[in-house]
Amino acid sequence: MDDLFLKIIAGEIPSKKIYENDSVYAFEDINPKAPVHILVVHKERTESINDTDESKAYIYSDLFLAVRKIAQQLGIDESGYRTIINTGSDGGQEVFHLHVHLLAGKKLGSLV
Ligand code: AMP
Repeated sequence: MDDLFLKIIAGEIPSKKIYENDSVYAFEDINPKAPVHILVVHKERTESINDTDESKAYIYSDLFLAVRKIAQQLGIDESGYRTIINTGSDGGQEVFHLHVHLLAGKKLGSLV
């Protein structure tokens, strides 16, 4: 199994850690698209939203509760931020380990 984010979580590939708890690891994106660009990754390997069902609903609560904590930690909870999950080829997913992009630090243009 070649999972870049598992290697980052294991410390085999260096990362700039922002937050960690028992279930989630968050670090700076290597190619930031905003002044703040954090990747929030579950420690359990799940390829994408398509790889989840009701039995894995905790993945989402773990990820988004971590997002909320990170936003508070970075002081962007009041100014605002955007969360994105890319899924599959048309969704622009490059790393097949479910993750949330957390973007902030400037007024982000509208996508939808
Ligand atoms: P996605 O396109 O949603 O799969 O997002 C993958 C993200 O991982 C991209 O924004 C990349 O810039 C980022 N990325 C790839 N390799 C690394 C790395 N070694 N450290 C931090 N971020 C990375």
